[in-house]
Amino acid sequence: MATFSTDAATTKHTPHYFPEHLLPLKNVLYHYNSDVSHYHYGPHHPMKPFRLMLTDHLVSLYRLYEKMDLYETREATRDELLDFHAEEYVDFLQSITPEMALKMDEDKIAQFNIGDDCPIFDGMYTYLRLYTGATLDALRKLISGMSDIAINWSGGLHHAKKFEPSGFCYINDIVLAILNLLRVHARVMYIDIDLHHGDGVQEAFNMTDRVMTVSFHKYNGEFFPGTGAIDEAGIGRGLNYSVNVPLKDGIDDDSYLRLFKLIMEPLITKFQPTVIVQQCGADSLGYDRLGCFNLNIRAHGACVKFIKTFGIPMLVLGGGGYTPRNVSRLWCYETAILNDVTLDLKIPSSIPTYDWFGPDHSLHPALEGPLDNKNSKKYLESVKQRVLEQLRFIDHAPSVRMDDIPPDFSALTEEEDQLIKEINDETEDEGTRLAQKVKDEARPMETFA
Ligand SMILES: [Zn+2]
Repeated sequence: MATFSTDAATTKHTPHYFPEHLLPLKNVLYHYNSDVSHYHYGPHHPMKPFRLMLTDHLVSLYRLYEKMDLYETREATRDELLDFHAEEYVDFLQSITPEMALKMDEDKIAQFNIGDDCPIFDGMYTYLRLYTGATLDALRKLISGMSDIAINWSGGLHHAKKFEPSGFCYINDIVLAILNLLRVHARVMYIDIDLHHGDGVQEAFNMTDRVMTVSFHKYNGEFFPGTGAIDEAGIGRGLNYSVNVPLKDGIDDDSYLRLFKLIMEPLITKFQPTVIVQQCGADSLGYDRLGCFNLNIRAHGACVKFIKTFGIPMLVLGGGGYTPRNVSRLWCYETAILNDVTLDLKIPSSIPTYDWFGPDHSLHPALEGPLDNKNSKKYLESVKQRVLEQLRFIDHAPSVRMDDIPPDFSALTEEEDQLIKEINDETEDEGTRLAQKVKDEARPMETFA
């Protein structure tokens, strides 16, 4: 039985730059290791890795493997984690067990930010190497040219920091991927449509103009992780290369998609990334367990589709998403979009987890949540204007020295140290979070070179 029909390839976008990339993105690879779905953060924890199994069931039952190659991925190595994370932190992750965590003294618990959000659970070290390994495998296929679009729904854990876990994220697979992409790509764009601010990725690259981070998220100064104000724009040479789009509760499909297109089109046209990393967190859907937006699956997918029209190679990752049946619907739908196919609206009844998708068994349940849209037209217009003003200050396709990746990311020159100190002093006075912990997180790359 046919479970999908083939679309005409997504229409190419305005072909006024990057002629070499304006070929249709044909080779789509899907990266997954089913072991990753077997881990548990704990019975009451909202992060449920089995959402990845549900996603994989849908992708398989819709027979999307007829359109793309599937790769079983490996665990990342310890050395790979150390490309970004501190050795002391990786040692901790490697050695800690749930039993040891119970006896741990409070200093250590505080030092490594262990607690309800980021518990120590059985097999945690394997789990984090599995999702990270899948991202690194995907990016290698992309770098080698074996794929134009590389998908890993188990990745996209955007909150993890160099020295500690945060917001259910232990290792920042996105930062590791971008560091590797910088070895061969001049400019990397990171796009984050998770409900939460992509703080870990922004912090890691806020001092370079070779990575533009763009995050659309709920923001009111208190909502996790507390960062992502529109005036957080980057530091030093990276100034204006961090873009934040703070939104309020209840944003609907039309407002979100319109704003997304109006912002992303000029950003991509000006910055001209040679590769895009897209984090597709599903907690921005309506009725998410931790959510407060009103997006439907189609609108979220339309963002992914829009980015695909630019014809730039893409690494596509998952992220948040706490209502597993909708997370899996979304990521299966987006897998189809990336393969230029339209799926049957009815979920195939042969799926072993069919009951999860009742009573409607539809790929597109109505997800307009009960929340009022607090984003007025005027507010959204002001956000758009602010971002476009910021764009005026960035160079058109900044040229870079590709060898500007020093072997030791953690070393700062005296000059950089001084500048960060000054920024910290200034912003402390203003009471903003802009440069909070910047020294801990900062890595020089080519900054100030
Ligand atoms: Zn999130």
